[in-house]
Amino acid sequence: MPVVPLKDIVDRAFTERYGVAAINVVNDLTLEAVLAGAVEQRSPLIVQTSVKTVRSIGLDLLYAMWRELTAGIEVPVSLHLDHCPDRSVITSCLRKGWNSVLFDGSSLPVAENQRQTVEVVAEAKSYGASVEGEIEAITGVEDDIGSDDEASRQSLPVALDFIRSTGIDVFAPAIGNAHGLYRSEPKLDAERVSDIVAAQPIPIALHGGTGMTDAQFSDLIARGCAKVNISTALKVSYMKSNLTFLRDAETRGSWDPPSLFTAVRAAVVDMAVTHMRRFGSVGKAW
Ligand SMILES: [Zn+2]
Repeated sequence: MPVVPLKDIVDRAFTERYGVAAINVVNDLTLEAVLAGAVEQRSPLIVQTSVKTVRSIGLDLLYAMWRELTAGIEVPVSLHLDHCPDRSVITSCLRKGWNSVLFDGSSLPVAENQRQTVEVVAEAKSYGASVEGEIEAITGVEDDIGSDDEASRQSLPVALDFIRSTGIDVFAPAIGNAHGLYRSEPKLDAERVSDIVAAQPIPIALHGGTGMTDAQFSDLIARGCAKVNISTALKVSYMKSNLTFLRDAETRGSWDPPSLFTAVRAAVVDMAVTHMRRFGSVGKAW
């Protein structure tokens, strides 16, 4: 099964209660590495791009890389645009072929966010694409989007009304999770996931996954978190494996770029596979 709608991936995971890693890539090397990890483990995978990555690489080149690297792929994969408050970028990505978008209207009043999310859902549907929605900002700045202040959470009825009236495919609630690195084990309101899913069965997106414990992942996935976002872990593994290699290269006085790429690729594949194992998606390709 090659590139599929994101809804196909998360609906299956939600029904069978496993999580699918949604990994933010930053360039061709990380894109190729996470796809290789999915193929190796027979796991479905969601590849995410931040607006910053879309802008830094360029929409056309980024999509060409995706097309080329997923041609003939035999596991289900989907391309998703992470937190995007900019409607013009959403439209450009949908037109180009992204399978899913997160319209981030969390800084808007809920009614206005809801009104615009309805429009985004209609627009995405015309391309056979999916939409993730959110009504509270996830704490922490990620790729220039967001705030370090914790947003207040909306009531359960407000969240349910948003889900039902917009027709989104995935919902991302704030549950005490945060982008970036946690200073200590995060205190999570897992019950909020259960309350939402009990009233409205919808796959939940878990943001700020880097730094959560295995027990927290298992618990949240069992409650309905079918899409588990991993961004910081990729950045850390990418940067640290570069640093380790380059320090060693300096010691040896040996400067061979392809060896650097091989070492970094191995670290990123390993990071991706570790998360697929933790989330229970290994062998779930169909
Ligand atoms: Zn996020």
